[in-house]
Amino acid sequence: MDSTSIPAVLASTSSAPLWQTERSTPPRRASSDMTCDTVVVGAGITGLAIAENLSRSRSVVVLDAGQIGSGSSGWNAGILSVDTTVDLRAVEDQFGEEQADWLATSLSDVLNSTRQEFANDRLWQNGRTLYVATRKSHLAYLLEELESRQKYKMPASMLSEQEIIRTKLQGFAGALALGNEHAVHPVALLQHLCRSIESRSGLVFENTPVHNWTHQGDHFTVSCGAGFSLKAKNLVLATGLKGSETSQSANINRGLIPVVGNVFVTQAGEDFAAMARESGTLAMWDSLQLYHYVRYLPDGRLLVGGEETPGAIAGKVLDASNPQIEKLYQWAQKHHSIKLPPIEFCWRASLVIPADGLPLVNLQRLGKSTLVSAVTDGLPFGLLLGRLIAQSLQTPESPPVQLTGMLSGSRRRTAATRLLQMLPGASNSSPARALALRAAFTALRLRDLVF
Ligand SMILES: Cc1cc2nc3c(=O)[nH]c(=O)nc-3n(C[C@H](O)[C@H](O)[C@H](O)COP(=O)(O)OP(=O)(O)OC[C@H]3O[C@@H](n4cnc5c(N)ncnc54)[C@H](O)[C@@H]3O)c2cc1C
Repeated sequence: MDSTSIPAVLASTSSAPLWQTERSTPPRRASSDMTCDTVVVGAGITGLAIAENLSRSRSVVVLDAGQIGSGSSGWNAGILSVDTTVDLRAVEDQFGEEQADWLATSLSDVLNSTRQEFANDRLWQNGRTLYVATRKSHLAYLLEELESRQKYKMPASMLSEQEIIRTKLQGFAGALALGNEHAVHPVALLQHLCRSIESRSGLVFENTPVHNWTHQGDHFTVSCGAGFSLKAKNLVLATGLKGSETSQSANINRGLIPVVGNVFVTQAGEDFAAMARESGTLAMWDSLQLYHYVRYLPDGRLLVGGEETPGAIAGKVLDASNPQIEKLYQWAQKHHSIKLPPIEFCWRASLVIPADGLPLVNLQRLGKSTLVSAVTDGLPFGLLLGRLIAQSLQTPESPPVQLTGMLSGSRRRTAATRLLQMLPGASNSSPARALALRAAFTALRLRDLVF
């Protein structure tokens, strides 16, 4: 018999203030023993996308410790970007052109089809994103990026100086515009996936933490809080930040750097609404700062994110006087030619950054059962993993090659992941590992500053 326990989830109950929505149904909590084909633990983007795909042909139950959106999936910026999700040159170097091409095409495809199924244009933006060069020396990097995007038939072009000015940006040496990008209300997307699962008789239970599971014969027994359990042939652990610390996920966990990011959202500004409408710009990234970005909401509000530090915390509302929010506000103001409206909301939340830039999946066959653990670094990969993992459970004898190669926890290591593997302790909460992760985060920042 194989058994393990799942670490306590970070205590948090709801999503970021901007994304809180009225629910059509109260949270449903599991309360009796059940049997199904697959249990998915974690109702973030990854768990729900897997369950949504599986529910087309299998009985599936999703269990979440908190409410939908209480993990990273309800505290993010909602940008669905193929371009910033994957570094195609790095993938090409490590896995070859064919795999890079497969990734670019699959990510675009999963976003386009999710948009069609989501079918709510008020909560879905489509347009261009900008990758802006803070230093002249970064222009060469943008040009390389342009070449690589064009090679994989992704729409991309350099912006002229006039176009940068028209987009109300300043203090940048150049900008690369990336076409056919998306952004969404992330909690509305999670709720859409839940409705889809439930319309096919799948079940999504909230406030139902999973404490441990065992495997015997051809099934798993998954134990939840109030003394009842679920029996299932397959078990999927899509528990995000904290939950990947099970022994089965050790090789996944050791390749991840947990990071805390700060976000603020301004009030609506007519000038920004006009800019977003006329130029079709939905987001921009600064080449100098690790993960500093602005999302332009259609009503003229700006969502600004950045000022990251290493660490794992539950999503938390902040005060606008927080020094990191003030710093972020100054950064955003410095790079826009019109005055930023005042702040309406701010928060802080964590995500995981895989050291080599790709999500990680562990597939383990136990007799006729399959155990999967999966971690994404963003919403687009969460949606793509949904497709691939569902496929691997439907045809366990021939899982998609990407899940046993490029996206597998046992893939060929880059220098960065080899280094992380050598660092002490498997658990992110051990002091030695926390120190090591701080060093890894600093290395990421330095790499950003000097390229
Ligand atoms: C500030 C910020 C901004 C971001 N911006 C973007 C962006 O613009 N675009 C983008 O693509 N990505 C963005 N991200 C990253 C993105 O949000 C995450 O990569 C993604 O949401 C992770 O999804 P997940 O399903 O793997 O994990 P989660 O969303 O964290 O879901 C895991 C779920 O598992 C549940 N769980 C854990 N343990 C248990 C247990 N024992 N029993 C039951 N349930 C359990 C948790 O309650 C949680 O709901 C951002 C993240 C942050 C923090």
